Amino acid sequence: MPSVLVIEDDDAIRAAIRRGLTERGHAVAVAATGFAGLEHALKDTPQVVLLDLGLPDVDGLTVISMIRATSDVPIIVITAQDDDPTMIRALDSGADDYIVKPFGTDQVAARIRAVLRRGGQAAAGSEPLRVGELSIDEGTRSATLNGVPLDLARKEFDLLLALAHRRGDVVTKRELLADVWQQAYGGSDRTVDVHLSWLRRKLGETAAEPRYLLSVRGVGVRLVDPQSHLSPAHVAPADVTPHSQVSAHQAADVAPDD
Ligand code: CA
Repeated sequence: MPSVLVIEDDDAIRAAIRRGLTERGHAVAVAATGFAGLEHALKDTPQVVLLDLGLPDVDGLTVISMIRATSDVPIIVITAQDDDPTMIRALDSGADDYIVKPFGTDQVAARIRAVLRRGGQAAAGSEPLRVGELSIDEGTRSATLNGVPLDLARKEFDLLLALAHRRGDVVTKRELLADVWQQAYGGSDRTVDVHLSWLRRKLGETAAEPRYLLSVRGVGVRLVDPQSHLSPAHVAPADVTPHSQVSAHQAADVAPDD
């Protein structure tokens, strides 16, 4: 049975959920504060999180976004009213479902089954992610470039996958530290820079002449289809005459990873 983490500050409700779900065979961890819950969520990697939005130490919405920085675990929020604007924002920030107080354990168990069913379908049907000639298969943790397998270390693959999930978007080094290194706090940009340069080498490119990995100075990095920025305009004859100047200028724009 799937493991469940319950983050709820009300002692009676927390105990009732724990008892009801334990009786149904779930392994249940509980936390009475948002920060304790976050710690459990990151360390124990539960299969479902039940999250009360009204917590004493940290806003439930913050808990959701912090969990979402590192994990796709289904989150079911517990709310006092179903027209609660906070609940709507919770769904918008990445919660999967909600339960309105008061509720019985049967309903909780049914919601858990429902979110897991949806998650399972999504995972089973997942295709490799494609960016240009790059293909990234999350299921087998393998990647190919032009059909040739890439020999990636674990963190290099994780980094590539994190960028592929948000292909086209600028991902900040802070987000990568949280997502790939599970360092939501602390951690050094240097860690990201070093792994980016290793990943670049394996993709056959450099920071000065990027193809897939475009650095945005002071912000982060974007994984893109090279066709989208090495467009014909850049190599068209009209552009070629002052070519050395153009290249030098482009290199200055995108050069090192800060
Ligand atoms: Ca509460």
